[in-house]
Amino acid sequence: MTCLVVKAGGSRVFPQWKALFAELMPELEVREWDDPTLDPARIDYALVWQPEPGRLAAMPNLRAILSVAAGVDHVVSDPSWSRSIPLIRMGEEQTRGQMADYVLWAVLSLLRDVPRWQAAQAAAQWVRRECAPLLSSDLRVGVMGLGSLGEVVARRLVAAGFDVLGWSRSQHEIEGVTCFWGEGQQTAFVTECHVLVCLLPETDQTRGLITYELLQQLRQPSGLVNVARGPIVVEADLLRALEEGVLHGAVLDVFDHEPLPADSALWRAPRAIITPHIASEASRPVRARQVVQTLHALERGEDVPLRYDPVRGY
Ligand code: NDP
Repeated sequence: MTCLVVKAGGSRVFPQWKALFAELMPELEVREWDDPTLDPARIDYALVWQPEPGRLAAMPNLRAILSVAAGVDHVVSDPSWSRSIPLIRMGEEQTRGQMADYVLWAVLSLLRDVPRWQAAQAAAQWVRRECAPLLSSDLRVGVMGLGSLGEVVARRLVAAGFDVLGWSRSQHEIEGVTCFWGEGQQTAFVTECHVLVCLLPETDQTRGLITYELLQQLRQPSGLVNVARGPIVVEADLLRALEEGVLHGAVLDVFDHEPLPADSALWRAPRAIITPHIASEASRPVRARQVVQTLHALERGEDVPLRYDPVRGY
């Protein structure tokens, strides 16, 4: 019997995973990550979120690792995991749809100065603006990363009337989106945008990519939406840009340290909206269905989409 070990949501949630898999793939043996009676040699597949370093390497017959999220940085940061074992990310329609909803809300919040009205409300102040608000068509929104999520986000922003640009590692063509690619076109892309939406994976190339200097290159009024991973943005630079008004506003869902510590200055940064890494998370039944599809494909020896490429680093 094929054995799947699950570390996703803790022991409180495990019975829910077990019930879902019992329905979708009754022939699968589903075991809890911390089950002391489980022989690591018995495990074929692991479904994980933030596995403790060294644990995956101690499973000698592991055939694939499935991330319970779209990001895999929580696995690849473990120096002991073997890059020869397939690592597969989560990503289906629900994840993409939720991300598009979140980003549209975030960009509209920046367009309509929501952080300013929130601050005024907290101080019980009736503050009106001197000029009419901008229209969506006035704002150039640049989507960094045109992958499984970025492309859907870019299309949604186009449909909402924004002037949309995109930037990726390789060349893309998306209707209605002006596409840039590669390091060589990064400055040309950034200098055209008011708002940057970060949907890049965290890799050696993207870590620390968004600096004060890069934010300075944006058109005014400028904004940042980070829904990718905290370390892609230099947190101290982001704070400085917000405090100095170089950056007009930010919507932040991801951080260097999560949960964001209570003493982080970001909580009190001017014109920033903070959410606790909730931009997109597919329901457990949807994710269980994707896991089962992936397991069936792997068992048949087929190639699976959304497989981590150790050479590209994402
Ligand atoms: P994909 O791997 O499908 O897409 C990544 C995109 O980034 C691709 O377009 C790729 O270019 C581009 N890219 C990678 N490296 C570079 C680089 N050095 N320079 C320029 N472009 C680069 O990822 P997803 O769209 O599925 O997910 C993106 C990220 O979103 C995840 O890694 C995760 O961290 C985050 N996420 C956050 C969630 C949340 O709730 N906040 C939920 C889900 C995901 P190319 O197309 O040329 O390969």
